[in-house]
Formats: sequence, structure tokens, C-alpha cells
Amino acid sequence: MKIGVIGAGILGLAVARELASSGAEVTVLDKESRVAAHQTGHNSGVVHAGIYYAPGSLKARLCRDGVAMLREYCAEHRLPYDEVGKLVIASTRAELPALRRIAERARENGVPGIVELDALGLREVEPFAVGAGAVHSPTTAITDFPAVARRLAEDVVAMGGAVRLSHPVRALSETASGVVVVAGRSRLRFDAVVSCAGLGTDRVAALAGAPGDVRIVPFRGEYRRLRGAARGLVRGLIYPVPDPRYPFLGVHLTRRIDGEVLVGPNAVMALAFEGYRWRDLSPGDLREILGWPGTWRMAGRNWRTGVREVYGSVAPDAFLTAARRYVPILGPADLEPAEGGVRAQAVGRDGRLLDDFAIDVHGRIVLVRNAPSPAATASLAIARHVVLTVPLG
Ligand SMILES: Cc1cc2nc3c(=O)[nH]c(=O)nc-3n(C[C@H](O)[C@H](O)[C@H](O)COP(=O)(O)OP(=O)(O)OC[C@H]3O[C@@H](n4cnc5c(N)ncnc54)[C@H](O)[C@@H]3O)c2cc1C
Repeated sequence: MKIGVIGAGILGLAVARELASSGAEVTVLDKESRVAAHQTGHNSGVVHAGIYYAPGSLKARLCRDGVAMLREYCAEHRLPYDEVGKLVIASTRAELPALRRIAERARENGVPGIVELDALGLREVEPFAVGAGAVHSPTTAITDFPAVARRLAEDVVAMGGAVRLSHPVRALSETASGVVVVAGRSRLRFDAVVSCAGLGTDRVAALAGAPGDVRIVPFRGEYRRLRGAARGLVRGLIYPVPDPRYPFLGVHLTRRIDGEVLVGPNAVMALAFEGYRWRDLSPGDLREILGWPGTWRMAGRNWRTGVREVYGSVAPDAFLTAARRYVPILGPADLEPAEGGVRAQAVGRDGRLLDDFAIDVHGRIVLVRNAPSPAATASLAIARHVVLTVPLG
């Protein structure tokens, strides 16, 4: 069985490894010259414990399974994995009922060790943080997702597979017996293809003749980082109580495996699928993004939040103000700009953000349509799930 996997992010590589370990001959294709070039290499590096997700959803289930698999994988391959713990802080008493619901949901999702803390208790975990109360998840961890991706690629090759970089997929056609893929200058024939193309999902879906009912809208997440000694003010991960309507919003403080502490991200619509900066504007991409009715309906519904996030992007003190809510000792000299990332978020025709992971099967082609956070955390479990959908006949 010959299977092509599009995308050498953590998900495509995890899928390829899973397929190769079940005996398939796998070829991974990516347009970039290195693995983990997009979302996998531009994220917060948090191994989410599965606190917020709707119980019973794919996200809730695959995140918990994924944490266990990733922890074991990192231990086995001596990859960094540090349970620094996470505090979700209610900064006012008004947020305490929402905080209690978070603790209940975390327990329902099987997250171990969840503790509810008062204002004093939270300072024992994070001495420089303040708040009316907090939920502590001691097993939330940090890792180096690009390093995990590189190791997965090595596994694929060790199992007889191939990882072909600088191979943009330009055409896909299904025949009676397989799928022909044109990637770079190569023309390859597979029995089945799995697409894990992140920000390039819609283009691959269009090539497969399966445009679908959801489209990717790119959201740029911008960060700052703490400078010098200020890094010592944060031990682990400090998060706000999320707005259930926009769970990925809310500036947080994140210790990274390299010792940096990130502040962010915000979320503003990018002007290109790979629009890492305001000036990265692609008229073609923008036409596609704005040509999707869901983009306009989403903007219509959420314009107040959108305006706030854009303000947060351009106002010089917005990150500092957000961070000081939780760590008030921080000052203007403690923050400096850091590299950001672009999220691939699927949006329905009606403008709703698709919350759960989504996978579609179109003949011999499996399309991962929505794999936002915590998909890096859950990648090994998502891969096991995706492989069960691959048409092997
Ligand atoms: C700012 C930010 C913070 C995040 N924080 C976290 C976090 O802390 N924890 C967590 O678990 N998750 C987090 N995430 C989410 C996580 O990074 C993603 O869910 C995950 O990396 C998705 O992996 P992927 O392999 O699907 O996508 P990607 O890593 O984006 O890989 C897709 C690959 O497909 C390739 N590709 C696209 N089109 C083509 C084509 N036509 N031909 C060939 N190749 C193609 C691209 O080059 C790319 O390498 C965050 C994401 C962002 C952006």
C-alpha cells in the first residue's frame, strides 16, 4: 500500500509515522525546505492538559490521549517535556463562577490533579501573580514541537518512508485505482492520500475537487517576550479565564522550553494565508479569504472583538496592560517583540468558527479540514484516529 501525506507539520508527520508503522509505504510531501515551517514551528509550545474542551468532543478525547502518547514519546526519544503547570486566574470576583465551571469541566475531561486556589494559594504557585482565585493544572507541560516533528520525520525514514521537502503539491487526480499527485517536478502515484496542509488546506481540497463546507481563515497571533531578569517572574503558564465564545483569545504568559517567557498571543485576521506580519499581503489569498461568505458573517458577528484585537496589535501598551492584570510588577522595559504565528481556523458558511477537529474522506483522499490548537498536543492521537479513516481497499 503506497500512501502520500501532504504536509510535514507535526500532524502530517505523525500520520505518516502511524501509517509506516502499520506497514504502508509512505511519502510525505511539503512545499517548504524544512519540516515544521508553519504552525508547528510558530506556536506557544504548550502541551495542553485538556481543560476547556467540550466533554465528548474529538478535541477533549484526543487531547487527553495525545498528552499521554506525547509524554511517552518524548521520554522514549529524550525530547524536552517539562510539567511546569498552568494557572487559570480569575482576576476579579466576577470571574469566579466561570473559573469554577472550568474546574468542573477539567475534571469531567479526566485532567489529573486539578486544584482550586484562592488569592493566597495561587501565589504559592506563582509568587508574582495576583488574582481573586485560580485553577491549577500541575501536569500542563511545555515541549519543543519542532524537535518532536523532526524526530517523527526521522522515524518515518527509518521505517522505509520518504520525506520530500521543497515539493509543493500542485495537482491531484483520482483514478480508478489510485491518486496521481504532481508535487514539484515529480509525478507520483499512491493508493491513497492524506492531506494535513494546515494553512494550505483549502488549496489542496480544491485540487482534490472537494472544496467543502468550511474554509480556512488565517488568524495571526502576535507575541511579546519578557526581557532579561523579568523572565524569572513567571515559573510556568499563566492564563486568563477564557471567554467561551472565543476560547483561543486572551493574552497569557507562557514559559518556553528554551527559558523564554512569551506574552500573547492576540488574534487578528491575517492578510495572507502565511501572513506573519501586517505587511505580508497577498491579493490572491485575500480574494479567497474574502470570497468566502463565512468570513463576512464571522466579521459581522464578532466585529467588536475584532476591533479590540486589532487595537491590541497596534497599541504600544496593549500587551503590557493585559500581562499586568496577572503579573502587575511588569513594566514597559520588560517586554520586547517576538516572532508570531498564523493559525489555520476553519470557518463555516454561516460565519461560525469550527470548534472541533474535522476530518473528511473524499474517495481515496482524506482531508484534515480543521486542526487548530491543541492539535500539536494531540497530534499522535489524531494520527491514530485519521489512519482509521484511510481507505485501504
Ligand atoms: C500562534 C499559535 C499558537 C499555538 N499554540 C499551541 C500550543 O501551545 N499547543 C498546541 O497544542 N497547539 C498550539 N497551536 C496549534 C498547533 O500549532 C497546530 O494545531 C498544529 O501545529 C497543526 O499542525 P499541522 O501539521 O496540521 O499544520 P502545520 O504545522 O501548519 O503544517 C502544515 C504543512 O503543510 C504544508 N503545505 C501546505 N500546503 C501544501 C502544499 N500545497 N503542498 C505541500 N505542502 C503543503 C505547509 O508547508 C506546512 O508545513 C498554536 C498555533 C498557533 C498558530
